[in-house]
Amino acid sequence: MVVGLKSVVYMKPRFGKEKFMSSVGKNVDALCTKCGMVLAHIVLYEVRGVIANVKCKTCGAEHKYRGSKPRTKSSEISKERTRRVGTKADEESRQAEAAETQRWLLRQQDLRENAAIVDYRMTNRYQRGDVINHPSFGIGFVEKILEEQRMDVLFKGNLKRMVMNYQAPAMAKA
Ligand SMILES: [Zn+2]
Repeated sequence: MVVGLKSVVYMKPRFGKEKFMSSVGKNVDALCTKCGMVLAHIVLYEVRGVIANVKCKTCGAEHKYRGSKPRTKSSEISKERTRRVGTKADEESRQAEAAETQRWLLRQQDLRENAAIVDYRMTNRYQRGDVINHPSFGIGFVEKILEEQRMDVLFKGNLKRMVMNYQAPAMAKA
């Protein structure tokens, strides 16, 4: 019995973080702090594979993702999230943050004085090597374009998987 349990544990890491299960740019049900209810949101970015910020499709407010309160199918995801919040994961993310800050500082040193820095807009399209300015996170370096609508951006302190090239005809102008 114990052996069986162990093998299950060993299986886990194979479905690692790098597997492409990004929700960035997709819809997610989340509790909107302004509307006060669970509504459809767009995932704005993820940090280390976890949804960080979302935008309410109803009121347009951008806020942290807190999950959706009612226990629906998404409780599976919530469990996964809680598991990662252990102390070991905390330590890992602290180390990752330190490394990413270091990397960001180096990139910033290399930044030429006349380098083009563009303001971030979720509807714009970016390329690897672009330098963007985000209203909350400051200067970010576009490190990787993942798909048509996703990119990895190195900000001071963390790498964020963000939306770009977002097209939503139904969305009210923010
Ligand atoms: Zn709202």
